[in-house]
Amino acid sequence: MEEAPRLDPVITMACDNCGSNMAYDAKRQLMLCPSCQSTKEPPKAQDMVIEKDFNSALALDDAPKGMGTAMKSYHCENCGANTMVDPSTVGFSCSFCGSSKVNEAAYAEKVIKPAGILPFAYPKDKALEAFKTWVGKGLFVPNDLAKRARLAKIDGVYVPFWTYDAETESYWTAEAGYYYYETEYFTDNNGQRQSRQVRKTRWVPANGYYAHNFDDVLVVASGGVKQNMMERINNYNLGKVVNYDAQYMIGWMSEVYAKDVKQGFEVADKIMNDFIRTECGRQVPGDTYRNLDIHTRKDGITFKHILLPLWIAAYQYGDSSFQFLINGETGKIAGDKPTSWIKVTIAILLVLAIIATLVWYFKFRK
Ligand SMILES: [Zn+2]
Ligand SMILES: [Zn+2]
Repeated sequence: MEEAPRLDPVITMACDNCGSNMAYDAKRQLMLCPSCQSTKEPPKAQDMVIEKDFNSALALDDAPKGMGTAMKSYHCENCGANTMVDPSTVGFSCSFCGSSKVNEAAYAEKVIKPAGILPFAYPKDKALEAFKTWVGKGLFVPNDLAKRARLAKIDGVYVPFWTYDAETESYWTAEAGYYYYETEYFTDNNGQRQSRQVRKTRWVPANGYYAHNFDDVLVVASGGVKQNMMERINNYNLGKVVNYDAQYMIGWMSEVYAKDVKQGFEVADKIMNDFIRTECGRQVPGDTYRNLDIHTRKDGITFKHILLPLWIAAYQYGDSSFQFLINGETGKIAGDKPTSWIKVTIAILLVLAIIATLVWYFKFRK
């Protein structure tokens, strides 16, 4: 028998003063009543932001599911992001790519509930101003970009992340290379005998041990934002992550993770292995090394699911979509822009013309 979809009640928070619905305000970092401007402190406890055991399948099944409040979810056919919005939202377009090819999707109640959330602290008016300043800059940007980008909206979205911890022990073997120099003799073009120093390497077997505890390796679980884009603005203070509370979602959007906890770990595993390889390489004595072979044991792997705040202005230009991102806590920005190939071509032609003129001038001035 099919399980009937269960919707948690929509969370609202009535103002004590006038009864209107309050929403979380990024500027004041408080719950704010839009009618009478009353404020209320949101919960700030951190005791539930704890890691869960990754290897125990039970922990995954036991992990609390859902977002604790009813939200409507939309699936974007263009970029694949699944966005959760307030149930009253109509005429939704994708915040991650600007596309309006979105379908209403089933409420994702099987998703693991976030353990923590970093509330928005960077306000919308500042985010919008930063976007407008940024969009007009750049020599090779199409002229109509600023005009088109003006139509783009800027959305505050809580983006899903996984963080992983692991205790690791690695044993490595390698060949350590020591440089030495030998004198070589040769005859130059004038028939003179000459000598030169040539660098050689002596290879010696080496081995060692490296232990490291990883804490909070951060992996983007988003379908709409790429890991490399996110790394450009990733200066979040994870120490400020508080217990997830549905109150923070009032008036805000959130994305459902596209990478699950196991797919996220594949990314984290690679980040950890790359780090270990670099550190073991550093331990190899001598001037250089080769055939570095590492055997790593990872224990006590734990994870947690957290939501981090992000301002996104997504716009379509031609057939492509472009993103401008602002860290919703610190205000750090990153974005990509289309290139005007006409402007680039004109610039290249101009440079060529200058070179041709200079060549002509120096050749014929006498
Ligand atoms: Zn009020
Ligand atoms: Zn999209």
